[in-house]
Amino acid sequence: MQGPREIYRKLKNYRLSQKIGPVRRIDRVAPVPGRRVVAITFDDGPCAGPARPGPEPLTLSILETLKEAGAKGTFDIIGSTKFKYPDTKGKNGGPYWNGVRYDHYPEFGQDHLGGAVNQPDLVKRIVAEGHQLSNHGFSHAAFGPNKYPYAFRGFLPSFDAVVEDLRALDDFVLSLCGVKMELGRPPHYIDRILGGYDAYDAYRALGYMYLGASFDGGGWQASTGDFQRDVENMVRPLEEALSNDPDCLNGSIIFHKDGYNMSSEAPAPFGLKRQLAVLKAYGYEVVTVSELLKMSQFTDLPPDDPLYPAAEALLRAGYIVTYADNRVRPSKPITVRELNLMSVPAGVPYAAQRNSKLEDASDRGLFQVISQRMAAKGRAGRFSGESKRVDRKDIMEACLDVISNLSINEEECARRKALVLKRSREAGDTGVTRGEAIWLLAATFLGV
Ligand SMILES: [Zn+2]
Repeated sequence: MQGPREIYRKLKNYRLSQKIGPVRRIDRVAPVPGRRVVAITFDDGPCAGPARPGPEPLTLSILETLKEAGAKGTFDIIGSTKFKYPDTKGKNGGPYWNGVRYDHYPEFGQDHLGGAVNQPDLVKRIVAEGHQLSNHGFSHAAFGPNKYPYAFRGFLPSFDAVVEDLRALDDFVLSLCGVKMELGRPPHYIDRILGGYDAYDAYRALGYMYLGASFDGGGWQASTGDFQRDVENMVRPLEEALSNDPDCLNGSIIFHKDGYNMSSEAPAPFGLKRQLAVLKAYGYEVVTVSELLKMSQFTDLPPDDPLYPAAEALLRAGYIVTYADNRVRPSKPITVRELNLMSVPAGVPYAAQRNSKLEDASDRGLFQVISQRMAAKGRAGRFSGESKRVDRKDIMEACLDVISNLSINEEECARRKALVLKRSREAGDTGVTRGEAIWLLAATFLGV
């Protein structure tokens, strides 16, 4: 049966798979060969409130647990929710448990115990112990309206307001601990921003990747009334998944909570301890999201694939390589529009704010060279449609043209041209695929 949530999820995945841009959503990456590696993210902290039933501050108790296990985490922190009053507390166990109009962390009326601004020492400690920080929004206000389940929730009124909210936390963290954040996760994963924008547009303004997750570590749901059972409920799904397939979490991102659940209780640190023991028993290394990405960048292109070094080199040089869902789709035919976006030289800013309106990049990059060549040959009409497939001879000749105009020495020029011809010869009889385009662009722009 398909509920509205399932349909929405499918629709969202479809949209991401159509969207090409510099902001990648990282839910999981291709398994790291020969190892078992996983990342864990902790949302909504820091939290100086007690790790009930114990008295110690919750974030410290998570840090202690991670240290004992030799694990590193990614803390998806907020700035402060204390400015979001007047507000009323909703019912425990429901979506408004920590405030009707706005979220209050760590809980309603206790905002001073949470947030980076109120607990800077906890943030410094997180960084000092080798963990990563991610931007979960200064105020944890939703980026835009959401009918279900947050119809009564306030939200940020515009694209500029979202960027300002993110920048406030980015600036604070930079001045507090000299760390420039590179990841963001929208509060409640609400992507929509008024005015036709979305979270990807905002993250582009900050230079972030979108931090997703692929496995729910629990600890956020309402309590069952039995604390031990709440902890069990966090551990069992992990145990079951790994006993079915010990490799199933290799490359995954586990969602976790640095705060209370919807009943203001704290099973998270207790569940975490058990989960880390299970992961260790299966030989998993727990690393930060950035460390994981150094081992495996893409969702559908494993590090031991022959194409991987070329794709990674382009990515590192600032080129767009994937769709928004972080998939390369190497065997898919490439369209003119995609080639256009993927060949924009690194460092060229996109004037348009919206991912769907990146056509302004068409006066740059390989596309320009191709269309000029075609115009000269009187074949320009073939490139009038952005969704059209790319012709192999055209892309190859355009690459050779670009190489001739690069400021590189003659020897390097000849080497790159030979590489382009070799790559072109290696391609099959099909139309130009995205994988082939990556080979050609890497050979042209980077000589690899
Ligand atoms: Zn959150």
